[in-house]
Amino acid sequence: MFDKGLVKMLVGALSALIASGSASIAERYGLVENGEPGASIILAKQPTRAAQLAAFEIQRHVRLITGATIPIQGESEEARGIQILIGESEKTRANRLNTQELKPQEYVVQFLPRAIMMVGRDAPQFDEVIYDMENPAAMKGLPGFWEEQGTLYAAYDFLEKFCGVRWVNPTELGTVHPEAKTLTITGRSIRRQPGFEYRDALGATGDNPARYDSYVSLWPGGSGGFKAWDAAAYPKLHEQYPQAGTYEAARRNLAHLFLLRSRNGGNIQRCNHSLYGYYQRFWEKSKDPNAAKLFVEKKPDMFAKGYEGEPPQMCYTSRELIEQLAQDARDYYDGKKTGGDLGIFWQPNLPNLFPVEPMDNSSFCKCDACQAWLTKTSQEGKVYSTGMYSDYFFNFINEVQKELKKTHPDKNIMTLAYASHAYPPTRLKLDPGVAVQFCFACNRAPASGENYANEMKLLNTTTVFVLRLLSGYN
Ligand SMILES: [Zn+2]
Repeated sequence: MFDKGLVKMLVGALSALIASGSASIAERYGLVENGEPGASIILAKQPTRAAQLAAFEIQRHVRLITGATIPIQGESEEARGIQILIGESEKTRANRLNTQELKPQEYVVQFLPRAIMMVGRDAPQFDEVIYDMENPAAMKGLPGFWEEQGTLYAAYDFLEKFCGVRWVNPTELGTVHPEAKTLTITGRSIRRQPGFEYRDALGATGDNPARYDSYVSLWPGGSGGFKAWDAAAYPKLHEQYPQAGTYEAARRNLAHLFLLRSRNGGNIQRCNHSLYGYYQRFWEKSKDPNAAKLFVEKKPDMFAKGYEGEPPQMCYTSRELIEQLAQDARDYYDGKKTGGDLGIFWQPNLPNLFPVEPMDNSSFCKCDACQAWLTKTSQEGKVYSTGMYSDYFFNFINEVQKELKKTHPDKNIMTLAYASHAYPPTRLKLDPGVAVQFCFACNRAPASGENYANEMKLLNTTTVFVLRLLSGYN
């Protein structure tokens, strides 16, 4: 006789394994078999626009791979074959996935018996998405970069990890995928948040996807070289849209889509050079009447020593500077002053973190205290991004953060890993509350192999150091 209790327990354990989507089950999901669709894409009655786009993208890429079209349908309709559940719905809730429990930007690709669930945290945006890759000028309703779109991340992760799709650029040649009459998926479930909270490839263009191609191109936008590249990159689009305005609308939509596929977006937190206003506040009264209002008094001790005339940098061991910046940060977080009031030229506002980033040069202070932070080995290297001033600058960042925390223990500053302070510091540990944005310096120099390799190495070694954010802003 079987022990009923034991059987019950085993069945319970098996159900738990299925529910957790354990790879030990190793179920095979035939999405397309010999050119015939074996699955249905299922959306909620009222899907978010992230879920709508995710469904269209899954459908399109499965068709590119296999030639077969998997239908997209509502959850009340009868589904055939494997159910691909996209975005939160009655069916995903029935499978015990509660999106309220997901962390910001978190998403799930979960393998269930005869179903694959792709769900993430989405913004409550329900506008209709018009998705037409045959007429990209007509596309409408694509999610913005800075709204939650975890379901879309889940779909893109699925296409990359389980279907072998890659997006190299927005052009007609930029999508790479396998070709096969049969597409069978096996794998382990995924539940994750992006490694970086903030991923920004085009902040400096005013978030305008229309400028993406010229921004990253080898040739300046509008030049003969760029026009030749553009003609070679979008031959069909040029034929389809002889009118420049419609052509540009189509190209903009394709660039927007490419950036979504690249997961550009997240929690927007911009950082840039933040100290130029100190010349107007603490060096010399500006001749510009508006900037002149910022002048407090001349405080030369804050500025770099050893230079003739206006110093190119601040003295980053100056207590006066450290205390002033901590006070600026307090005023900013207390809502007493905006970034503009503090002379920061790009005018950050709350809830953007308070930025501290030096002037855009490596002519740092020559006083003994500052020079003591430089080591010989840290000055080696011919590439753009180095660690020459990392110990020096991040020590200063730590001091500002420490000073701020005396009165505002829950507030943090933000800075960049950039140029001569791109590497992690070696002589100190950065305060874990400081948000650091890694600036991928090759975003506009893709042809520089030596620099590109250095950036990639840096990105890999920096992931521990860059605790919170990533930017391609520089
Ligand atoms: Zn100094």
